[in-house]
Amino acid sequence: MSSDEKTDKDAFHFSELPNGWTVGRFAALEAMDGVVHAVTTRQSLVIPATSRGMGSAAEQVAGALGLSGVAYCHQIHGKAVIRAKHNGSCGQGDGLVTASSLLGVMAFSADCPLILAADGVSGAVGVAHASWKGTAKRIASELILQMAGAFGTNPADVTACICPSVGPCCYEVGADVLHAVTEGVGIRAEQFFEKRGGKLHFDLWAANIEELLHAGLAPENIHAAGICTVCRNDLFPSHRVEGEKAQRFVAVIART
Ligand SMILES: [Zn+2]
Repeated sequence: MSSDEKTDKDAFHFSELPNGWTVGRFAALEAMDGVVHAVTTRQSLVIPATSRGMGSAAEQVAGALGLSGVAYCHQIHGKAVIRAKHNGSCGQGDGLVTASSLLGVMAFSADCPLILAADGVSGAVGVAHASWKGTAKRIASELILQMAGAFGTNPADVTACICPSVGPCCYEVGADVLHAVTEGVGIRAEQFFEKRGGKLHFDLWAANIEELLHAGLAPENIHAAGICTVCRNDLFPSHRVEGEKAQRFVAVIART
């Protein structure tokens, strides 16, 4: 499945919160009872990539969405998914899960896909930071496994959404990425690399959609925003465009 087949324009839209923030939202998550989520933009909240930035973002996001608190972790491009038991920092990792009411789980990005997940039956929610390294380590599957282990989630009940990130249009990579991803995911991942103009391009959206299917999600429950952060650097920070000075946007999800 290519990302084109899974990125429908109605999947993701922008709306204004009561505090005036413009955030991105997925129709599929909005349609679920008891789930709140948001993807921040330059018209709401972007932050420096530091732990202090995350602490302040967590407080602001909690206030904007009416949550009691927001948990986050120190992202290291790995595959560890942590069960959040309190707000604030939960240590090193690249994903969080919770079933606690009004405790948000949040991750940050400037180009990497963030995945939001919600189990319509158990009420568990989760977030994962699926950088190319995390994608090679199959973090999308790890997210679903941790929801299953902690909360008895059946993957068939999960809706998962892939936030704006660098798209296949702009994600030029080296052969090292191809080797690492096919080594970690298997030869099936080769289909997500395409050579154009002599340059290798990686489709992170399609790779993570496939990983979620592999984890047992139903195709109709997987959605991608289909917005490239390089093409739409006006809306979202991009490490590829701005380099080390790039700020970060965040994605958060909670159950009510
Ligand atoms: Zn692009």
